[in-house]
Amino acid sequence: MDSPYVLFIAFEEFDNLGVRYVSSLLAENDFRVLITDIRRGKKKILEEIREFNPLIIGFSVIYQYFITSFRETAKFLRNNGIAAHFCAGGQYASLRPAELYQLIPEIDSVVRFEGEYTFLELAKSIRSGVSWKNIEGLAFRDDNRIMINPLRRPETDLDRFPYPLRPPLQEYALGKKFANLIAGRGCKNNCSFCNNTIYIIQSSLPARRLRTPENVAGEIEFLHRQKDCSVFLFDDDDFPVRAESGSTWIIDFCSELKRRKLYRRILWKINCRPDEIDHDIFMMMRNHGLFLVFLGIDDGTDEGLARLNKNMTARQSMNGIMILKKLRISFDYGFMLFQPSSDFNSVIRNIEFLENLCSDGSVPMKFLKIRPYFETRIEKELLREGRLKGKPGFRDYDFDDPSLNRYYEFLEELFGYWMTSPGGVTNAAFWARNYIAVFSHFYKRAGRFESLASDITEAIARSNNFMADTIKELAHIYMPGKNNGPDGTDLDHYREKVKTNHQIFLKQIADPVNQICRMAEMYMAYKSILY
Ligand code: SF4
Repeated sequence: MDSPYVLFIAFEEFDNLGVRYVSSLLAENDFRVLITDIRRGKKKILEEIREFNPLIIGFSVIYQYFITSFRETAKFLRNNGIAAHFCAGGQYASLRPAELYQLIPEIDSVVRFEGEYTFLELAKSIRSGVSWKNIEGLAFRDDNRIMINPLRRPETDLDRFPYPLRPPLQEYALGKKFANLIAGRGCKNNCSFCNNTIYIIQSSLPARRLRTPENVAGEIEFLHRQKDCSVFLFDDDDFPVRAESGSTWIIDFCSELKRRKLYRRILWKINCRPDEIDHDIFMMMRNHGLFLVFLGIDDGTDEGLARLNKNMTARQSMNGIMILKKLRISFDYGFMLFQPSSDFNSVIRNIEFLENLCSDGSVPMKFLKIRPYFETRIEKELLREGRLKGKPGFRDYDFDDPSLNRYYEFLEELFGYWMTSPGGVTNAAFWARNYIAVFSHFYKRAGRFESLASDITEAIARSNNFMADTIKELAHIYMPGKNNGPDGTDLDHYREKVKTNHQIFLKQIADPVNQICRMAEMYMAYKSILY
C-alpha cells in the first residue's frame, strides 16, 4: 500500500521551520508530506487536496493575523466534502486552543507546543485506525468541552531531530541561494510585547535549548555542498552569541565552520539584542561569514526600555550598534516608536535616537506601533485599562492623547507604503545593503563597486534625514497647544512632498544596485569563459 499523505497549510513567506521539522520526522516514518501556502487561496488548496487525498490536514496557526484565512479555508474545505482529520498547531493554537475551537469549529485536534513527536504519534494512530484521544500534548473537543491532555516531555537533545524538509532553495541575491535555519529554540528574555515567556511557562519547555555547534555546521555544510546554498539566515529569536556557557557556543561554531572550510564560502545572518554585541566576538563572527544582524532595539530611551522589560539601557544599545558600524557588519532592527504609553515627548526623544542611528545611511529608518499580541503583558495591561479594541487576530488600542492618534494615523498614511511595502524605499534600501554585502563577499571588489556602494549609502542617508525632518516637523504641528493642530493645506503639502521624494530616493537607490547586478553578471560570464 502507498504511504499516506499529510498536507500542511502554512504561511510560508520564508520556510516555516516548525512545519518543516515535523515534516521531516513524518517523512522518516513513511508518510508523504505536502506543504502549501495559505496565501494560494482556498480554491487552489482544495484542488491540491482532491488530487492527493491526504489522511491529515495540518493548519499551522502561528500568527493571529491569519486566523480569518484559516477559518475560511477550513470551512470551505469541509463544505466541499473534505473529511480528512484537521489538526492545528503553532503558537496561537498552542496558547489559545479554546479560542481557536470557537473560531474554527472544523478543527479535530490541536497539537500544543513542540509538535514533532505529538504530530507523529497522531498521524501513526490515524493511519492504524486506533484512538488518538490519549496522546500527550493534544487538545480536542469532546461534547462541546475542550479536553486538554497532559503535555509531553520536551526533547532535550535537539540534535535528535532530523534536518528540516526543504523545498528547492530560492535565490537570495546575485545568484546566491539561501536557507533559513535555527541554532536552537526558545529565548531567555521576557519582553513585555512578546508572548515567548508565557509560551515557555505553559509548555514546560526549557527557556532555551541549543543544537550543538557541530550539528548546525553539519546542516550548513550539507546545504552548501549538496544544495549549493551560500546564504544562511538564522531565525532564532535570540541567537546564542552569549549563551549560559558564555561565548563557548559561538566560538565552537566558528571553529566548526573553519574546520569544514566553509567560512569563506558562506554568509550568515542572526537576530540578537544590541547589548549582547561584543567587539572581539563579533569580529570573529564577521571573519567567519556573519554579514547581517537583526537587532531588537525597540526603544531609544531608558524609561521606554524599562517599560518594555528589555533589561538594557539606551547607552548599551547604542554601544552595540556602534560596534557593528565599526566592524562594517550590516544590521536591521525593530523599533517601536508608538507604544500604549507613548506621548509626544517620548516620540520626539525616540525620533532623535533614530536620527542618530540612521543619519549616516548605514540602515534605513523605520518604526512601528506595538501590536498587542495574544498572551503578552501589553495585551493584559490594555485589557485591564479597558483600552483593548478589535476582535481576536486584530487587536489594537488608542493612545491616551487624541492628537497622538491623529499624528500616528497621518504618519501611517504618509510613510506606510514607504516603510512596509515591497516597493517602498525601506525595502529597497534594505536589499541594496544586502546586495552590497553579497557582492563584497563573493565577487571581486573594484573601485567602481566602492563608489556605487557609497552612492547607495548616501541616498539612504538622504532618505532617512528627509523622513526624520518630516516626522519631527509634523510632531510639532500635531502637538496639543501648538498651532492649534494642522490645517488641511499643510497636510496636502506633506502628502505631495513625501510622494515625490519617495520616487526620487527609490531611483537613487535602485540605479546603483542595477549597476552592481550587471557587474556581477559580467563577472560570472567572464568566469564561465575562463573555466
Ligand atoms: S521579543 Fe525577542 S528577545 Fe524579547 S522575549 Fe520575545 S523572542 Fe525574546
